[in-house]
Amino acid sequence: MPQIIDGKAISAQVKEELKEKVAKYKEQGIEITLAVIQVGSDPASCVYVNNKKKGCEFVGIRSLSYELPEETNQEELLSLIDELNNRQDVNGILVQLPLPKQIDEEVILNRISPAKDVDGFHPMNVGALCIGKPGFVSCTPYGVIQLLKRSGIEIAGKECVVIGRSNIVGKPMAQLLLKENGTVTIAHSKTADLKEVTKRADILVVAIGKPKMITAEYVKEGAVVIDVGIHRGENNKLCGDVDFDDVAPKCAAITPVPGGVGPMTIAMLLYNCVSSVELEF
Ligand code: NDP
Repeated sequence: MPQIIDGKAISAQVKEELKEKVAKYKEQGIEITLAVIQVGSDPASCVYVNNKKKGCEFVGIRSLSYELPEETNQEELLSLIDELNNRQDVNGILVQLPLPKQIDEEVILNRISPAKDVDGFHPMNVGALCIGKPGFVSCTPYGVIQLLKRSGIEIAGKECVVIGRSNIVGKPMAQLLLKENGTVTIAHSKTADLKEVTKRADILVVAIGKPKMITAEYVKEGAVVIDVGIHRGENNKLCGDVDFDDVAPKCAAITPVPGGVGPMTIAMLLYNCVSSVELEF
């Protein structure tokens, strides 16, 4: 049987460490505050926002909640971001996506001060990652690195293949693996022979957005497989981009869905909030 990488346990460990760190900051009179903005009441967004607020409460981060109506216009949201950018007592600003169609997400995300961009989406933070400078790193790929490291999986020198090249998962994932000295290939929908590429991987990170697409024939014997995908399938059951039952017997280690990458995303958001105290911009 492969090693099942336990994202629930590892995220709990990260949160415990952060709780201690936040308590130490509090002793020094430093309070960490995250502003969470939600526009409209998309049910999935409500669940994510609530989980983020609960996470903040657990580690001792103060969260400020801004619940704006669905019809909010871009100027109104920009002026709230400007106000929060200027507030000394706000360390991080999170705008829950997706935004209603009258608002341009890119304009909004680019307006958040890079020093408060705890999601790591601002071009300055993305650029910092590419040139190896300190900055906020996109939470999901950062969480994958923590899963690998804390499971004792060596990245340096390994053939790493990332399927997917989105700005929030695939590209930062590849940069992070490169930073850890992996030999990195990025595959995508135009990759000519996907199986041939993925079968080279010692570490295969899958972020495609297609339920159970990756079966055993895409995977090398003894590979480590990280499944970023998340889908609600038949009977409301969650599944990933990897066909777990088919792939697991062939792997050295694999993340389940749920309970793999998912819980790490919030843990790393909290990590970014805490590191905002020390990051220099
Ligand atoms: P996107 O849709 O933005 O990107 C998907 C990527 O997969 C694209 O680069 C696309 O290639 C590539 N792709 C699509 N089809 C194929 C194919 N047949 N063969 C090879 N590559 C393909 O998705 P995201 O990166 O935002 O998310 C990926 C998955 O991760 C989703 O299931 C999402 O729900 C999940 N997710 C989970 C998170 C978590 O916390 N666990 C957080 C964020 C995302 P191309 O660029 O050529 O179109």
